[in-house]
Amino acid sequence: MPYKSSRSRYLIIPLLLLLLLGGGYLAMQMHTWPHVPTYGAMLYGYGVPNNYQSCGWHTGGDWFAPEGTPIFAIEDGVVIHVGPLWFDGPDVGRGPYSIILYHEEAGYYTTYGHNRVALVEPADLVQRGQQIAELGDLGYSGSPHLHLEKVVVPYTGDWQHPFVGCDGYVDPGNRWSPF
Ligand SMILES: [Zn+2]
Repeated sequence: MPYKSSRSRYLIIPLLLLLLLGGGYLAMQMHTWPHVPTYGAMLYGYGVPNNYQSCGWHTGGDWFAPEGTPIFAIEDGVVIHVGPLWFDGPDVGRGPYSIILYHEEAGYYTTYGHNRVALVEPADLVQRGQQIAELGDLGYSGSPHLHLEKVVVPYTGDWQHPFVGCDGYVDPGNRWSPF
């Protein structure tokens, strides 16, 4: 009988270690890595060939979630554009409430498209994890989703041609699991 209980006592040490490691991993994800852009599932990733974007491939990641789901700034930054992106009008572009953020310290831009509403204005400073919009279905969109892009070249200042060429788009990643 004591055999069993002493054995389970020895099991506690590796279990505690696992808990510590897991907790550390979660803390890193929450405080060091970019914040989740929204809740939901990233089901259509960066780089997939398509015929509706000028680069010929998907320049961001699509996160599918119900309309109104909060959208968060993935990093500290400043709002540099709120409005249409690429095209303006029903069923084209990224809708009238798309957002571009500049993350000076991190050294890149992010864009958030198809929003139902924007909760920020140009020149607003935003913090990592701050809600900036509600997820929507506006512009060229088949169902409610967030099109999130990460871009490393400067914004041109022109919402119809926001970034020069296609080399500046980088994978925004899907490592931000919903939690
Ligand atoms: Zn997309």
